[in-house]
Amino acid sequence: MTMVLDQTHDPARKSWLASANQAGSDFPLQNLPFGIFRLSSGGRPRAGVAIGDRILDLAAALEAGCLELPAHTAAAAQQPALNALMAEPVEARRALRLALSNLLSEGSALAGDRSLHDRLLPPLSEVRMQLPAAIGDYTDFYASIFHATNVGSMFRPDSPLLPNYKWIPIGYHGRASSVVVSGTPVRRPRGQARPGDVPAPRFGPSRQLDYELELGAWIAGGNALGDPIPLDAAESSLFGVSLLNDWSARDIQAWEYQPLGPFLAKNFATTVSPWVVTMEALAPYRVPAFARPAGDPAPLPYLDGAWNRSQGGLAVTLEVAISSARMRQEGLAPARLSRGDFGLMYWTLAQMVTHHASNGCDLRPGDLLGSGTVSGPSKDERGCLLELTWRGRDPLTLPSGEARTFLEDGDEVIITGFCERPGAVRIGFGECRGVIMAAREL
Ligand code: MN
Repeated sequence: MTMVLDQTHDPARKSWLASANQAGSDFPLQNLPFGIFRLSSGGRPRAGVAIGDRILDLAAALEAGCLELPAHTAAAAQQPALNALMAEPVEARRALRLALSNLLSEGSALAGDRSLHDRLLPPLSEVRMQLPAAIGDYTDFYASIFHATNVGSMFRPDSPLLPNYKWIPIGYHGRASSVVVSGTPVRRPRGQARPGDVPAPRFGPSRQLDYELELGAWIAGGNALGDPIPLDAAESSLFGVSLLNDWSARDIQAWEYQPLGPFLAKNFATTVSPWVVTMEALAPYRVPAFARPAGDPAPLPYLDGAWNRSQGGLAVTLEVAISSARMRQEGLAPARLSRGDFGLMYWTLAQMVTHHASNGCDLRPGDLLGSGTVSGPSKDERGCLLELTWRGRDPLTLPSGEARTFLEDGDEVIITGFCERPGAVRIGFGECRGVIMAAREL
């Protein structure tokens, strides 16, 4: 498996749409992320591609004869969810990316036909984004050794990192039904918790509601039940990535997680950003897999390979910010809580895919894999409040003067991400946001 750099990544390529060429835009010509949108004025869900401050309506471009695609790809691009497009072979996905890049490049026929622009490219401000795919299954991993060590040392001071961690990409099966798109309010869950040493648990609204800063990876072609996915094929089994917030109720989690892992502490909501940045767009940002410290075991052979070692990592910078209701009333900007580097993950996305399918478990187009909380070695790289406040022991102070240990009602959590390096055009992921609503009255 090699990542192909081609003319779609050429930094000299500009779009005829000026907003796509502005420095700092998340959606330059070199990105071309896919999403599903509805016009604010109504209509059915449609597949689109973000470019600058607009969205290319794929069905409208096909109908207008601007975009010529093989029949199979064209049919997939007109579905109300991205699953069929995700299932296209990697060669077809690359061809689609090239066709889109050509259509939106300076000098294309569409550039000169201004009468089509408003119909084919509605402004992002006039659409409502939906979930990118119908998600059949959702799995969340735990791939940051910094996060795992921090959390382990709070929950199990005597054995923070369990002996399997360096051998197995640890994960659990999440709940696809409660994955929501960015902007969907999140209801504070009720649940059972046993705070401190009280003799019996209580049932009520979570008092330790948290976020987790993660990437979500979308499965492309997948595998038949019973067939594993070799590590060398794992990359082409990925369609792309989004931002992901794995909302977590720590008090419920601490009481329920043994012996079978997270259950109701996490399946009340998971938020994803609407734009799927493709693996092709990420090709310039490949980095070696995390360098294991001397003394750590090498991965078992099925999780090891030359390509994974040299290019299995992804240099994505992730940031999370908070905005309380009072901060918004006072006109204060969201305050950054942490910044993470996806290149520090102990396991690569390809290793997660291969391990997931190693027993024959079938992954299907549109399945979602969460990476696990993205944390690094320093304090400002801790990707959740559990770590940042050390389970509430060290409260944070917001710009409004308010203290935070965990999330309060009205708090909004905003995740952003981008890739940047010399010689390539910066690409961004858009936003993954959600505001906490008070628990429902019983
Ligand atoms: Mn998680």
